[in-house]
Amino acid sequence: MATKIPRAAYAFLNGSATWACRFPEDCGVEGVEVLAEGAVFDTPYGKTVPLKVVRLGGEKPKDALVIPMHGWHLNAPHITHQQSSDQVFWLMREAGVKKILSDAGVGGLNPLLEIGDVILPDDFIEARTRRAETFGGQDMRMGAPFCGGLREALLEEARKVFPRVMRRGTTVVTEGPRFATRAEVHMLRAWGGDIVGQSVTPDVTYARAIGACIAVLNLVAYLAEDSGSDWPEAQLREFYNHNAPRVGRVLIEAMRRADSAEPCPSCGWQSGGPARWMDNR
Ligand SMILES: [Zn+2]
Repeated sequence: MATKIPRAAYAFLNGSATWACRFPEDCGVEGVEVLAEGAVFDTPYGKTVPLKVVRLGGEKPKDALVIPMHGWHLNAPHITHQQSSDQVFWLMREAGVKKILSDAGVGGLNPLLEIGDVILPDDFIEARTRRAETFGGQDMRMGAPFCGGLREALLEEARKVFPRVMRRGTTVVTEGPRFATRAEVHMLRAWGGDIVGQSVTPDVTYARAIGACIAVLNLVAYLAEDSGSDWPEAQLREFYNHNAPRVGRVLIEAMRRADSAEPCPSCGWQSGGPARWMDNR
């Protein structure tokens, strides 16, 4: 049944790095209350996947949407990822979301990287053939696409949990669902890509279009095809089972540090602001 849209200034746009656990229940963090679960919302682009609404306790309690796997309808392949993104970003805009934290398991392109490394990218290259433009169809600056404040919060929390955390890096986004070929790996590396994934856009571009800050925690889950390392499915599953609650904990503690009331010096000057995105209603 469709649910009334709550007010929430924060959102967890979860991805493959937290997919293997129940977020936030399995993350071992005190003071997180689940206000609603299985909530489905009507949007002009169709019904969303079932979401949760949570409250992070503390001096200033924060209500946050919990959107699993970028909002993708994994059990309904006729609903495209683009349509799913349109749904959840419309919802976030209506709910008043201003700060988004996301995660994803990615492939390592940079030969310095190892499995289990955490990257907080500061830039991206969009290697998609089709761009999502439902939101932010107009010009939007991308000089600093990821929020500096949120990245700093993720950095401090991730360093408490993971041995190797990189404060910057360039992530390449491909369409998927297939992974890159060896020849493509060489090309993406020559472009300056450090890691490769399939979700950073439209999440990042849509976040800017709705006037929200976003940062992404990327966990290196496998190395590029030419690295000589294999990544059998059972090993990957074990990797994600182990790491999902750890990544989840980092996201929750980093969100506690975020303040939606503060104007963001990192993103504010580049954001289209309300006047721009309201044109797209
Ligand atoms: Zn920001």
